[in-house]
Amino acid sequence: MKRVSLLIFALLAFTAANAQKPRPDAFPPVPDTLAPKALNMATTLEEMANWDRYPTYPVYVEMMEHFAETYPNLCHLDSIGLSVQDRQILCLVITGTNDSITNKPEFFYTSTMHGDEVTGFYLMLRLCDSLLRGYGNSTEITRLLDRTKIFINPLSNPDGTYHGGDNTVRGAIRYNSLMVDLNRNYPDPFGTPPLDELQRENSYMIEYTSQHNFRLSANLHGGAEVMNYPWDSYTSRELTHENAEWWKAVGQRFVDTCRTYDNYRFRDVNTRGVINGGDWYVISNGRQDYFNSQGIREITMELSSTKILSTDQLDHYWQCLSHSLINYINEVHSFATCDTIATDTSTVGIDPIADQAYKAYPNPTRGPVTIVTPTETLHYNLSDRPAGIYFIRTKGHTVKVIKQ
Ligand SMILES: [Zn+2]
Repeated sequence: MKRVSLLIFALLAFTAANAQKPRPDAFPPVPDTLAPKALNMATTLEEMANWDRYPTYPVYVEMMEHFAETYPNLCHLDSIGLSVQDRQILCLVITGTNDSITNKPEFFYTSTMHGDEVTGFYLMLRLCDSLLRGYGNSTEITRLLDRTKIFINPLSNPDGTYHGGDNTVRGAIRYNSLMVDLNRNYPDPFGTPPLDELQRENSYMIEYTSQHNFRLSANLHGGAEVMNYPWDSYTSRELTHENAEWWKAVGQRFVDTCRTYDNYRFRDVNTRGVINGGDWYVISNGRQDYFNSQGIREITMELSSTKILSTDQLDHYWQCLSHSLINYINEVHSFATCDTIATDTSTVGIDPIADQAYKAYPNPTRGPVTIVTPTETLHYNLSDRPAGIYFIRTKGHTVKVIKQ
């Protein structure tokens, strides 16, 4: 009996100690040496054909150049800048050839600012390939590319990923080559001074993003599986992001879609797989809060509990995440682009009361729109807004307006 209660006590103590799993981002990485894993490297372009390897650094650069050379009508290759050790920080810019669609919103994927979190690196390369191959063959991808300008930066910390040398990811580290955590190195919108001077990788990233008009972005990480939305600097009780409801809905769509392919995913932080960053773990000088303060909606996607997946696992992660990754790009069309018009996007696409009682004329519109409610008539002008879907709030209800 005594032995049983001791056992129960030990079990309870263990459970309590593990109830709040700490955010892996908050601590130096634990050397991942327990499980033997295959880390097969592709040393030629051809060896990436089956998508069951990580590319060496030269093959990675070759792949990005190859995309641009093979699909010159659909994409071009940008250099965001150089890392401290002069490796390329590359970005493939992809869009469709339908010239009749103008004012395409710009979308940004950026991965692996923590060099040892390489799942996103692999997924982004495969996404580039999939989007380019899909254009003209898949209705969904053709439509997506035709109305969106997609920027994909698969590797924002190449020195960290290839810390063990250009030919392997085995020695990958979280930090850049100066041992600075790039996700604690951004200017802090809430005033916390950074520990280190702004690193070269981040400086180039800030410059690049300032030259564009990214409306939606995702920053890909690993070490957990959760959609982490702003703010990271505060708990939701301290400061709720004005678009928190929209973020929750977007995050849940991403997770639910993934779970239709693998129901075990996104369960190691909480059951929903979506969390306010600060509710998980408060950090300062993170990239997410900086970019959101600059008007770029960015979420942090933690995509695999294991930071460096065994290469025989890679295809499975693509199969269960690819649909979510593509759908997330489409979310750039799911919110109003001007918060002075729509301050409440929580009712995205679902507001039967508005649809029935409130009318918007004309809808779709190219500019001026009139909204008639039972008590008033409101005028808005969307002429200077890009094409897309807008949600205009009137007396607590939201009217969906399509800008052509
Ligand atoms: Zn990370």
